[in-house]
Amino acid sequence: MYDAIIVGGGPAGLNAALVLGRCRRKVLLCDEGRPRNSVSRGVNGFITRENILPHDLRRIAHEELKEYPTVEIREGVTVDDVNFLEGGGFEAIMEDGSRAQSRKMLLATGVEDTLPDIPGFRELYGHGVYNCPYCDGWEERERPIAVYGPADKGRRFALQMKTWSDSIVLCTDGPATLDAEDRARLDRHGITIREERIIRLEGDDERLRFVHFENGDSLAREALFFITGAKPNCGIATKLGCELTEKGVVRTVGNEETNVPGLFVAGDASQRVQFAVVAAAEGALAAFEINTELCEEDFT
Ligand SMILES: Cc1cc2nc3c(=O)[nH]c(=O)nc-3n(C[C@H](O)[C@H](O)[C@H](O)COP(=O)(O)OP(=O)(O)OC[C@H]3O[C@@H](n4cnc5c(N)ncnc54)[C@H](O)[C@@H]3O)c2cc1C
Repeated sequence: MYDAIIVGGGPAGLNAALVLGRCRRKVLLCDEGRPRNSVSRGVNGFITRENILPHDLRRIAHEELKEYPTVEIREGVTVDDVNFLEGGGFEAIMEDGSRAQSRKMLLATGVEDTLPDIPGFRELYGHGVYNCPYCDGWEERERPIAVYGPADKGRRFALQMKTWSDSIVLCTDGPATLDAEDRARLDRHGITIREERIIRLEGDDERLRFVHFENGDSLAREALFFITGAKPNCGIATKLGCELTEKGVVRTVGNEETNVPGLFVAGDASQRVQFAVVAAAEGALAAFEINTELCEEDFT
């Protein structure tokens, strides 16, 4: 019986493992190894870790966790299902059919970004096409930027992008569902709207170069930021009865507790802003709460 099983080995799961390891807790961390930011050329906004490659962030974390003999990491292992144990606790079932039991469980399984099916989009993702201006806006500051936001999705996002550049074009990839007030507001701030269907993005190893439209027009842009949403990897959480927010991520309170006793959700799969440093902090909060609950149960 582990004290805790952690599902997911991104910043949230790894930081939780560190804090629990330091509490001498017996921990199993299972990670299938498909980090959300694998295409990123550098993690930004994480003090002391600026521009570190996602792979290096994980490598350092694994090295540091070797110090803690009670922390066991299983890499390349997917947790397929989780059940409640009679009398309390959880049982994780791995894809190879093996099982592990724990008193507490932390899901740190992240989200999956929804990318439009436009040629060039996926190829340029991470070096010219981005989802988060807080992560990559500084590097693209003052450049001509396209915002991809179908219907009315890009309305506020395009205005926010003015933080990083004066040259913003909102591409809606089809008719925009913006009212006159929205259009006037965008116009007031110098944001052009292009409603033509996009057929292709053109770029190279360095950056985006053009957005090509169905009508034959092309728009020269050096970066594109998109807002299309992300799908939380929270199938296990919903199966166990976790409440979701209207955005579809798991509702947590306090130190990442869910409405299911003993079950915690941290990182992108829970409800706060989706930054690596926030995910790591949430992992630490969940670990703190897990240890607190275990102490309460052990020392009655
Ligand atoms: C392109 C890009 C660039 C980004 N750049 C930055 C940046 O510069 N700065 C910043 O702060 N943030 C950045 N982010 C956001 C940042 O990557 C996330 O906030 C952070 O990775 C969230 O950490 P996490 O631990 O919640 O999830 P993740 O890092 O996504 O890790 C989740 C892990 O859980 C695993 N997993 C999922 N389901 C299971 C399962 N059933 N069994 C076992 N394992 C499972 C996944 O394979 C994955 O390894 C970026 C995101 C993207 C997409």
